[in-house]
Amino acid sequence: MSSLASNYRPLIFADLLGQGSVVRPLQQALLKGSPPHATLLTGGRGLGKTSTARIFARALCCMNPHAAAASYEPCNTCAACLSILQESANDVLEIDAASNRGIDDIRNLKELVAYPPSLLKYRVVIIDEVHMLTNEAFNALLKTLEEPRDTTVFILATTELHKVPLTIRSRCQLFSYTTASVDTIKQALSRAAVQENVSIEPAALTLLAQSAAGSYRDALMLLEQLGSRGTITVASVHEQLGVPARTVIAGIAQAIQAADTTSLTEVIAQASITKYDQCISSLTEFLYHKTVDTNPHHAARIVLVGTEGALLAKNAPLPELVLLSTCIRMMPQEQQITLPTIQEAHQPNVPVIELPEEVLEPKDIPPDIFGQWQQLVREIQAEHPMIGSVLSQSVLHATEDTTLFVHVRYAFHATKLDREPAKKILHDKIVALFGQGWMINYRTVPNLPRREPKRALSSQNAAAAVAIFTPSA
Ligand SMILES: [Zn+2]
Repeated sequence: MSSLASNYRPLIFADLLGQGSVVRPLQQALLKGSPPHATLLTGGRGLGKTSTARIFARALCCMNPHAAAASYEPCNTCAACLSILQESANDVLEIDAASNRGIDDIRNLKELVAYPPSLLKYRVVIIDEVHMLTNEAFNALLKTLEEPRDTTVFILATTELHKVPLTIRSRCQLFSYTTASVDTIKQALSRAAVQENVSIEPAALTLLAQSAAGSYRDALMLLEQLGSRGTITVASVHEQLGVPARTVIAGIAQAIQAADTTSLTEVIAQASITKYDQCISSLTEFLYHKTVDTNPHHAARIVLVGTEGALLAKNAPLPELVLLSTCIRMMPQEQQITLPTIQEAHQPNVPVIELPEEVLEPKDIPPDIFGQWQQLVREIQAEHPMIGSVLSQSVLHATEDTTLFVHVRYAFHATKLDREPAKKILHDKIVALFGQGWMINYRTVPNLPRREPKRALSSQNAAAAVAIFTPSA
């Protein structure tokens, strides 16, 4: 199987862009002739851990290495290098711990490393995704690491360092990869593009690099997919990804946080989005992480609104409007000025009254009615989270005959509850719980004590919310 990602697998240390903190000490050790007995490479996927392990293996065994003042590279042409490159060297063993994680695999390994290398200078054992090993296998590996042989070198790699036992870690020299910066990914991409004769617009190159989220492999795979269709343009990248790049998401998020509807519409219009649901999901994730530490309640609201928006956008005839309205609903509540102002202007019949503090407390409401009201709020929260979230911030203030007097803080809350579809939903619920003939009378009381909205997640929304934060395979 040949792909750009494998064609452009780095062959020498110098090809490992942006990983000087790993490459330099390895080269120093090679120059000194004292390579670490066990090396543990750790970092995110697609950063070049496996490539480093293979280059290191060749550098160790190379018969004609290129050594300079501060660099040490395998020649990649001698018999040793070629046998490793062709994966025919018996002395170099590469194990994927994801599929060979048991004790027997490691026992076989132990027997193997008991002997000196047959042809090459070193016996090199590369264990990829080492954190996947079973406990027994780790114990067996530890014993092997505790009895080092001068001619055996272990190179372990993991994306999840915390799952590697401390006993193993302490036996290894640890090298951490830094997430590839956009600039270094751009370098790698333009090098591959030149060699493959793929033409790419500079802006598209930046966009591709940004969307690869720090992974060279992802970036090269995207380049390959797009390059096969001719010149890579910003539009073709957008089309391929379906969602705007991180910077565009950040731009939308900024407009949301500033409650700036004008720039929000502009950013969205320029973003040429095709997969609106995915865009909303990315936005939800982005804003959630930006908000959760400072304002967890608002972060929770963002998840709820975003989840609902993403579900809606999937089948909506006008998904761009769903995106826009989701963004507006994600704005910080105290700054949602534009919408309520417009609605208030068209709703002069909703009375807005400032009540003295002592009048704010609910009047003696019969306990059974109060219980039924609480039941109503709970059921609406479960069945219609968005209406429920508004309702949960209201207060049943008093009852008179068959009228429920409900105080809300904002006029637009009253409007929302007193209009379809909420009106009918509430009406049906009232008939079911209170009986025929009951009515709700809303009053807007700006100094209503602020209460934290209680939101109930319906199981469907909860599952979707979880899905947003579960990285897809
Ligand atoms: Zn060589």
